[in-house]
This record gives sequence, C-alpha cells and structure tokens, in this order.
Amino acid sequence: MRVAVAYEVGQPLVIEDLEVPAVGPRDVLVRIAASGICHTDLTVINGLSSLPLPIVPGHEACGTVEEVGPEVRRVKPGDRVLASVSPACGSCWWCTNGMSNHCELAGVVRSTPRYTLGDGRTAAAVCGCGTFAEAMVVDEASVVAVETDLADEQLALLGCGVTTGLGAAFNTAGVTPGSSVAVIGCGGVGQSVIQGARIAGATTIIAIDLAAGRRAASLALGATHTVDPAEGDPVEQVRTLTSGRGVDFGFEVVGLPDLIVQAFNLTRIEGAVTLVGMPANDAKITLPAVAAVFSGKRLAGSVVGGSQILRDFPRFIRLAESGRLDLGSMISRRIKLDEVNDGISLLNQAEGVRTVIM
Ligand SMILES: [Zn+2]
Ligand SMILES: [Zn+2]
Repeated sequence: MRVAVAYEVGQPLVIEDLEVPAVGPRDVLVRIAASGICHTDLTVINGLSSLPLPIVPGHEACGTVEEVGPEVRRVKPGDRVLASVSPACGSCWWCTNGMSNHCELAGVVRSTPRYTLGDGRTAAAVCGCGTFAEAMVVDEASVVAVETDLADEQLALLGCGVTTGLGAAFNTAGVTPGSSVAVIGCGGVGQSVIQGARIAGATTIIAIDLAAGRRAASLALGATHTVDPAEGDPVEQVRTLTSGRGVDFGFEVVGLPDLIVQAFNLTRIEGAVTLVGMPANDAKITLPAVAAVFSGKRLAGSVVGGSQILRDFPRFIRLAESGRLDLGSMISRRIKLDEVNDGISLLNQAEGVRTVIM
C-alpha cells in the first residue's frame, strides 16, 4: 500500500509502496477514506518536535475497519471509525478519571515502529496513526466507531484539529454565554475555537491573524471582529474592542512564546488564558511574575482540548449534524495522496484553513 514517509527534516515526503504492517493482538487495520493535514504534522516534518525521523505523518482521519487483532473489543470489521490524535484505552487511571487525553498508552502507541522502509530502517507513525497513507494499523485505543452520515472529508477533521479547538473552548476554558473571546492564530484549530466560542454563546469573538484570508474565513464561522497584527499592537486593538479591559477568554493557537505572552496580556484581570498551539520542543515562556499573581488570571494548557474522545467525538458529530458546527466551510482544498507535498507547502505558507487528502 502507498504511504507518505518523512525521511529528512524539511524535505518533501516520499510516497512509497510498503508492506501493510502486521496486525498485532490489540491492532486495527483501517482503510483510510479522508485525512486532514494538521499543523502538528508540519512541526514533525520540519524537525521541531521530539519525534525522530523517518516517520509516517498524518493523524486526523476517518475510514473503515478491515481487520482486527484477537484482543480487539472496541471495533469490528466494517465499522466506520474516526482516528484520534491521542489514544484513550478507557481503563487506565487517566481514562477512568476524566483525563483520557493523557491516557497512559500514549507513549507506547506513539513510539511503536509500524513500518519497514525501503532502506531497511523502521518508522513509527505520527500519534500512532500515520494517516498520509492508503491504510494504517493502529492500536484499538486510537479509534472510535461512529454512526453518522457526515461526509468523510468533514468527519476526518474531528480526529484532531476541530476536536482540539472545540474542546479548548468547552472543556479547558469553559467559555460562557455573553462572554468575550480572542483567538490568536486562525488556522483549522483556531477557527474551531471560534466556532466553539460561538456555540457556547460568546457575543464578542475576536479573530487575530496576519493572513487576510483566514481573518475573512473567521468572520464566516462566528468571529464578530478581526484584528490584523500588522496594523498595530494586537493587545491594544483588543482592549479597544473590550472597553479597555481585555477579553474574558484569551486563546493562543500558534505555539510561539511571544504570542503566549500576548494572549496573557490581552486577557482581562481574572480572565482565562488557554494555550492550545504546539510550541517548539525547546521553547520557553517568560511572564512578569507580579502580574501573573496579582492579575488573578488563570493560565491553562490544553492537550487535545481536554477532549475525552469516547464522550466528545459523538457529541461533536452531533453538533455538526445539527448544523451548529460548520465543518464544510473549513475545508479549503481537497487533494490526492500523490499531492501531499502541495498540501504541506500550502500549510507552510499559512494558506487556506484545512487541506484534506481524499
Ligand atoms: Zn493535529
Ligand atoms: Zn487510558
């Protein structure tokens, strides 16, 4: 089967015909129907994560189960499944305490070598998935069976980006009706935070992004105002829009230390700052300690939006089915697996919102 492999940092992926990986006792073979290209894949391909290359990128996809190992109970052949950026075994301490986004299987799932490459080396898959391929073999903890008529290209987006954004708004920040929200970085995840804020009833939603196309798309998905950082300090622009106070809920969805400080500064006293963007492995943030204490602001990291996939995948699907969550407008381009490198360069240039490999 054809698989896209990242061999060298910053170089185009190589599409190879590889053996289908062995299906172990807990494994599931999934024929991939659609896969989104997420910014985290870029971070890996560009060598900014802790994951070693070679690796098979891609971690948000849906498809159909073709084969399962003898110990698999969660899904069966023929099931339509949504793959998850983070596994949830459902039985470890984290899973049974409402923190399945920290499931203890994550480390093993993410480092399991799945592929033997043409040059004899082995490769793992990003997040234990590796969705830039015709099929994938994953731990059963990485898939959830779903019953929905949503199109493949829309369903796939719920595997990482959309779930991360919605979860950040609902689970981590707890956006409230009538509140004000600012989102720094309006790619696929940022626009999902914006949609989550709209669904939660926020009445002022400020989209901050350097790309004009992304600011315009944000308005269509629920933003009430946009801020162009090139037109002056975003902190001042946000304060002007919020009676000088700053927003109730600030989100950083890029992963840059300067922007995390910016999110802290544009959030009001006693507000909530949610960190969603994936920083480089060695990045550090510095905040004025007095302000950190005396502003009373809450600063919270958000891993996969605090999402519990066994609970949240079905409820986010219902939001899409009911029309409250707009997935169709988030897809800016559909490509074939052979064009995966074009999709990656678009993301490198911050063009569009989500490219889907079909
Ligand atoms: Zn992702
Ligand atoms: Zn678990």
